[in-house]
Amino acid sequence: MAQIEQYRAAGGYNAARRAATELTPEQVIDMVAASGLRGKGGAGFPTAQMQKWKFIPLEAPLKYIVVNGDEGEPGTFKDRTLIEGCPHLLVEGILIAAVTIGARKVYIYLRREFYRGRRLLESAIAQAREAGFVGERIFGSDHSVEIVVHSGAGAYIAGEETALLESLEGRRAFPRQRPPFPALAGLYGKPTLVQNVETLCHVPVILGLGPERYRELGPPALFSVSGMVVRPGVYEAPLGVTLRSLIFEHAGGLRPGRRFKAAFPGGSSSVFLTETELDVRMDHESLRQAGTMLGSAAVIVIDDSADMVEVMARAVEFYRDESCGKCTPCREGTVWIAQIFERILHGRGRIEDLALLESVAKGMTGTCFCPLGESVPPGLVASLRLFRDEYERRIAVGTPDGR
Ligand code: SF4
Repeated sequence: MAQIEQYRAAGGYNAARRAATELTPEQVIDMVAASGLRGKGGAGFPTAQMQKWKFIPLEAPLKYIVVNGDEGEPGTFKDRTLIEGCPHLLVEGILIAAVTIGARKVYIYLRREFYRGRRLLESAIAQAREAGFVGERIFGSDHSVEIVVHSGAGAYIAGEETALLESLEGRRAFPRQRPPFPALAGLYGKPTLVQNVETLCHVPVILGLGPERYRELGPPALFSVSGMVVRPGVYEAPLGVTLRSLIFEHAGGLRPGRRFKAAFPGGSSSVFLTETELDVRMDHESLRQAGTMLGSAAVIVIDDSADMVEVMARAVEFYRDESCGKCTPCREGTVWIAQIFERILHGRGRIEDLALLESVAKGMTGTCFCPLGESVPPGLVASLRLFRDEYERRIAVGTPDGR
């Protein structure tokens, strides 16, 4: 739905119009809070309850909104789907947030590879401007909102909100020390609301349905399901759907003759779940109790044809390559772990390497500057515990393919 006529025919921009002309900022914030909406970028903060909106000092003369569209978590492709499928929904969510906190300027930081998404988004913004919904005095109100699309530079770490702000200001994407938090001192030192694409796309829906109805529906969430399933894709399901249902009903199950082995429920940064946990509910609380997290709701499915040593080695290589190098535990730890994996995969592993992996993981835990480094140890340690036999077999046999 890339054309504004279609979107408006389905009731599009009515919520933004209400926010700009009828509702007070407090009413909008209360509705979002009552909906139970949580940030969809990975951290899972409740958007309003966690004060992200409320923290913004409404009296500040200059405030910004920055939309985090730098979707780089392996296995995550819901934001791209949303942008390409319905760019006006994002534009409307942005407008509601902007009039609510009084931001006149919004930057969408978009992953550089989203060429099609950028084209569609810029077209949607132009159409909305033409209709009087973007620019000066939107919907005939006193609010003015400009939206700028900015392509990122291809670094995973730029998806971390403070690194994103650094990148947007023209510097290398290094995470910033917090506090101060972006809500008080963000882009160019001004109060900034940083929100994920999907989070903002929920806001028009909440205002349209009302928070009670929205809650009754689930609330809905988008899951990117990839890996060894018959129908990988983005699936909308109520938050709390079981992992089993997502894999075997929505995504068509595993390939013929294969058996489920593990799944990352929230991208490669989350700790994987195994066969005994297929009935775990895919919501923040249930997954936290299961020792993992929903993250960006990217379900990466692994069947019994995969070797968990190779799976973990690939994940570690990714974090090694994407480490920004700012802090020692992550910069050095990811390299050390990747080197040990390389040794094991090339038939030169030693049984002591398993304790060494655990030791390096322990040294990284709680010592990294940002979540990127911290996301490596939990999955690695879990794999050493649950799939130790696969590591030991590799080491014992000592051949590159482990057989
Ligand atoms: S944890 Fe890694 S990515 Fe984060 S600041 Fe440290 S080196 Fe950079």
